[in-house]
Amino acid sequence: MNAFILAIANSFISIIIFLISLEVYRIYRRKYLLWFLLALLLIATLFIYSIIEFAYIGKYGIIFYPSIIIFIEILIIMAEKELLSSLKIERGEEYRILIREDIALIRAFQKLTNYLINRISPFIGIKSIENVIEDCIDRYPILAGCYIGVDEKFKTTAVEENIDGIKEKREEKICEAFSYLISKLIDLYTAFLPYDEIVDELRKEISKIEKRIIKYFVPFSLFKLVVEPILRKFKPDELKEIRLSVDIEGIYINRRGGVEIHKIYYYDSLEKERKFIKFLERLLPFISKDEITNNFRKLPDNIKEEIYRYEFIKNLPRGIMEEEKIALASKEKLIEELVEKKRRLEEAYARLAEAKLDKMKSKFIDIVAHELKTPLTAIKTYNELLLKEKLGKLNKLQKEKLEKMAKNIERLTNLIDDMLQIPSIDRKELELRKEKFYAKDLLDSIIYEVEEMAHEKEQVIEKELDEKATIFGDMKLIEKAIKNIITNAIKYTPAKGKILIRARKNGKFSHIEISDTGKGIKKSELDKIFEPFYTGDGGGMGLGLAIAKNIIESHGGKIWAESVVGKGSTFHIVLRGEK
Ligand code: ADP
Repeated sequence: MNAFILAIANSFISIIIFLISLEVYRIYRRKYLLWFLLALLLIATLFIYSIIEFAYIGKYGIIFYPSIIIFIEILIIMAEKELLSSLKIERGEEYRILIREDIALIRAFQKLTNYLINRISPFIGIKSIENVIEDCIDRYPILAGCYIGVDEKFKTTAVEENIDGIKEKREEKICEAFSYLISKLIDLYTAFLPYDEIVDELRKEISKIEKRIIKYFVPFSLFKLVVEPILRKFKPDELKEIRLSVDIEGIYINRRGGVEIHKIYYYDSLEKERKFIKFLERLLPFISKDEITNNFRKLPDNIKEEIYRYEFIKNLPRGIMEEEKIALASKEKLIEELVEKKRRLEEAYARLAEAKLDKMKSKFIDIVAHELKTPLTAIKTYNELLLKEKLGKLNKLQKEKLEKMAKNIERLTNLIDDMLQIPSIDRKELELRKEKFYAKDLLDSIIYEVEEMAHEKEQVIEKELDEKATIFGDMKLIEKAIKNIITNAIKYTPAKGKILIRARKNGKFSHIEISDTGKGIKKSELDKIFEPFYTGDGGGMGLGLAIAKNIIESHGGKIWAESVVGKGSTFHIVLRGEK
């Protein structure tokens, strides 16, 4: 009994471990965790099975336990493999593997902050910097808990912990608070260094930011590295004038020429872009386009890549980044052309492959049929001689078997004749054999021939035949084509079904329709059924329709099918009525 309770406890614990791991996976979405998860799921299964064994005295444990253990081992090996390869991808920086986007963002800002603190503290000491940080925490509670440690490094552990309490727009909040903090630090720094030099340093720092989160640094970089260096050069009274004319919600210029953009993080990325462009347009009367372009070009590569990807560059005011716009436009055009070329190539290739296959098929059929025909004629002759007892008397059994053989020879001969019809009908010869005849006469005679077959399946054949409809063509061939279609209708329609055969005159043409109430044909198969050797589940050779199509088309006619699965099919044939 104790063991039973233990089994229950184990199952319970293993399920809880599984659920916790599932949550971890949900947060971090790392592939290797999936393998671990599967392994943990199997462990839970193992314990649950042990309960079943206790309850019902199972007898498969001997197989079940070892195999599950093997599977678990395999899964763990897979997980390790995946983990190792992700480690390699991250260039050995192990901690990154499990880092979430928001945390990564905080760490990036932390690095940037630390960098600035390091530069400023020799001038003013840590105390004054701490005051700035406190002021920022007052304004942005999300920063609560961050501080400068005894090692003079900026710590964000508390921010990382607090962040989980925030459900919505965490990234925006982080960006807003930190860009405020960094702006304040930059303001401090400018008391000691020209802004241009600070920008040089910032560029270097920003270029080190992880690819995954670089998008959050785009607005910051655009304002701080592209626009601000120019504004900082204006004299206070000039600046005042600019400030009054460029005000835009979410962005404003402070007294020193710094651009305050903390609120801009609340807009979505498209709106952020629009605001930047609008802001730039308003600034244009005061600043030089070349200078702005220059600053754009000096942006670190990771930021550049990010802004090149969108329409952003194209939407910049005229005169800014013109060369890049042209390059981008021609690149897009090139890509469009390439895509179009690729599409055409693929199309041509498909057509070529189809044509080649068709040609190969018909050649193959031709060879096979001819090669078979000669020996078959010999076999047929001998069989006839034997049957007629020209080569000696036969007993009953021998005669029976030879008759069976004759039937099979007959079938084979018909098949080969069919095959020989597919490749090509000699058009010149066909012209000579063409005559004008009444569709009704031909259809009546075909119906007469197949009636027996339909009766056996208790099917009714109905006809609506226009007496005036004529056909101009080789009667024998057309008979074969239509007969193939009518026998198919009988074959693929269940007992007691109905087959309707119609013929009507349509100007210079005759339109023949053969409808059945059979199983129907799937839409995807409607074209394929006319290909040689295509069979649905008919079990036939798949030549009937190919032959019919070949005959009708070499008469310059048309053949096609319509069908509703489960309801029935209609085959249409349109042929010339006269010469
Ligand atoms: P076969 O009948 O020897 O298989 P066919 O070329 O005559 O070859 O027909 C090709 C395929 O088209 C058949 O295997 C069958 O799946 C489908 N088919 C032809 N006629 C009908 C019909 N009237 N109703 C349903 N399926 C049909």
